[in-house]
Amino acid sequence: PFDVLVVGGGPAGASAAIYTARKGIRTGIVADRFGGQVMDTMAIENFISVKATDGPRLVAGLEEHVKEYDIDVMTNQRAVDIRDIEGEDGQQIKQVELENGAILTAKSVILATGARWREMNVPGEDQYKTKGVAFCPHCDGPLFKGKPVAVIGGGNSGIEAAIDLAGIVEHVTVLEFSDILRADAVLVKKAESLPNITIIKEAMTTEVLGDGNKVIGLSYKDRKTDESHVVDVAGIFVQIGLVPNSDFLKGTLELSNRGEIVIDSRGQTSLPGVFAAGDVTTVPFKQIIISMGAGATAALGAFDYLIRR
Ligand code: FAD
Repeated sequence: PFDVLVVGGGPAGASAAIYTARKGIRTGIVADRFGGQVMDTMAIENFISVKATDGPRLVAGLEEHVKEYDIDVMTNQRAVDIRDIEGEDGQQIKQVELENGAILTAKSVILATGARWREMNVPGEDQYKTKGVAFCPHCDGPLFKGKPVAVIGGGNSGIEAAIDLAGIVEHVTVLEFSDILRADAVLVKKAESLPNITIIKEAMTTEVLGDGNKVIGLSYKDRKTDESHVVDVAGIFVQIGLVPNSDFLKGTLELSNRGEIVIDSRGQTSLPGVFAAGDVTTVPFKQIIISMGAGATAALGAFDYLIRR
């Protein structure tokens, strides 16, 4: 069996595997797609000590670093279940079942399966991803300096994004589907006090408009009057939820009401010997540098578990 089996090959998983491999213990990574969300990212300007890079380049660096160590990397493989069973020596052992039916065994597991942004599913959204359709204001906000943008969603993340962006961009139009904003009152008050934020409720986004290369606007339907409108924007921040990739863990370990894996300060989950890191966990902010740090924490947590086992 592996000493540590890492499930997920994004920044959290890669970091965790490097940390455990450096302890000289048998490490494996099983991942659906090596690189994770970073593969979908164009400009990265907040990975400290690297002024500017892009997703595929950062992933190439991750891969090169992982290859420096004796890590068994299994890609194009999805985990579908995890079990905690008693091994032949009477000690608990983990089994990770893959979609193809194979079963991997490990003394400890680090879950780093990440998350995905909920999408609007309207025409143009896919075509203009990374060409104006964005999901992360911390990451991409500065790319729209001095330009008009829209934020889709009036929950906490949408209103926070609007307030954040208002300090950088020319103007922010927030579009909320329902007739109320679900964000905390203090955030709504702040957003309403800013002169360059307009909030439109009961607005159903219907299409992302572009010129073939980049976003030039969006159209929405006023759900009260059924009238269609166009807003001219250079960027559209979709803030309608981040979905953790944790479906296969339901019933096995503790998840928050949003489906995030609950961890302690050492990355330990509710199942002894199973650790977790990155966007799939309850960690409050979801960023590359944060998930790499969390991967290191979970790895050291797992090592600590193994030496006491
Ligand atoms: P992920 O990157 O999501 O990786 C998850 C890994 O798990 C993948 O390998 C995936 O294939 C695998 N996986 C999932 N389910 C399973 C399963 N069942 N079995 C096996 N493997 C599985 N952050 C920044 O700091 N700066 C930026 O500029 C930036 N820009 C972004 C732009 C976009 C478009 C997006 C989507 C995100 C951006 N982020 C940015 C956020 C950043 O990408 C994430 O915070 C980070 O990738 C999280 O790392 P992770 O390892 O936790 O998860």
